[in-house]
Amino acid sequence: MSSAPNFSFELFPPRTPEGAARLPVVIRELAAARPQYFSITHGAGGSDQEGTYETLLAVVAHSGVEAAPHLTCVGSTRDNVAAHLDRYRAAGVKRIVALRGDLPATAMSAAAPGEFHYASELVSFIRERHGDWFRIEVAAYPEMHPQAASPGQDFENFRRKVEAGADAAITQLFYNADAYFDFMERCARAGITIPIVPGIMPITSYASITRFTGGCGADLPRWVRLRLEELQFDKAALLDFGLGVVTRLCETLIKNGAPGLHIYTINQAEPTLRLCRELALTAHA
Ligand SMILES: Cc1cc2nc3c(=O)[nH]c(=O)nc-3n(C[C@H](O)[C@H](O)[C@H](O)COP(=O)(O)OP(=O)(O)OC[C@H]3O[C@@H](n4cnc5c(N)ncnc54)[C@H](O)[C@@H]3O)c2cc1C
Repeated sequence: MSSAPNFSFELFPPRTPEGAARLPVVIRELAAARPQYFSITHGAGGSDQEGTYETLLAVVAHSGVEAAPHLTCVGSTRDNVAAHLDRYRAAGVKRIVALRGDLPATAMSAAAPGEFHYASELVSFIRERHGDWFRIEVAAYPEMHPQAASPGQDFENFRRKVEAGADAAITQLFYNADAYFDFMERCARAGITIPIVPGIMPITSYASITRFTGGCGADLPRWVRLRLEELQFDKAALLDFGLGVVTRLCETLIKNGAPGLHIYTINQAEPTLRLCRELALTAHA
């Protein structure tokens, strides 16, 4: 690779005491690769608001790397979202990943209940209240959001987020580079020029990758799924095979113009660090 691309890492607030105890170590190990920033997920409906904030403080304390909280708006009031934004701003946060969040299982349509229905409304709200203080990242779906009516309508809805003021986007995970390149071509035709960074998930287990891809509607190529199924009880072989698949995907993306990589670490340092070593990602340029 000619020059090191930007890269960032995603963490989630730990859900167990063991996960919480391990978090500082994971942060320090990942920080050694010098990512551009860590993003921290946020449960929809405010289920782990405090967890996001505490994980953000842990990133600051243990790494000195920029921390970017995700902020979901589904089920939240304007007052509640405003309070989060004020607290983040007071803590020196400059970057937010703005999302609708997943709907409660009882919701029957793509429209969220509550005072916000879509992420574009959240982006507008952040811009109204805070101007350009925050850099706003939004989600993009090269393979279409699972609740969208059609790829065309989903793309128009993505455009709304850009027009509302998003600075950049991170994609849903995918294993099919062509879906990303097709999305980029559609953006170019629509005059959308913000950076759209591929979201990359290292493959660490057959069960988890089939669950993740199934849940978000990402295509796991048949041959990859079959090989992972075959290797599911040979952990070392599965990790090696998965690393090869994801390394080739990242190399293809970077070689063909992706502006960076956002790695879903699932709070495990080693799979992400192995991928960084394979890609010679050592420092944020
Ligand atoms: C990078 C990334 C990070 C994520 N982090 C989190 C997280 O921390 N916590 C979490 O709970 N979830 C997270 N998610 C998952 C995300 O919340 C879900 O995919 C959610 O269902 C959609 O969120 P969104 O922000 O993309 O929503 P939106 O952009 O609002 O889109 C949601 C759906 O509504 C449709 N839509 C949008 N606008 C309109 C409109 N005006 N009229 C009609 N339809 C419309 C879209 O086509 C789409 O089908 C993340 C996803 C990504 C890709």
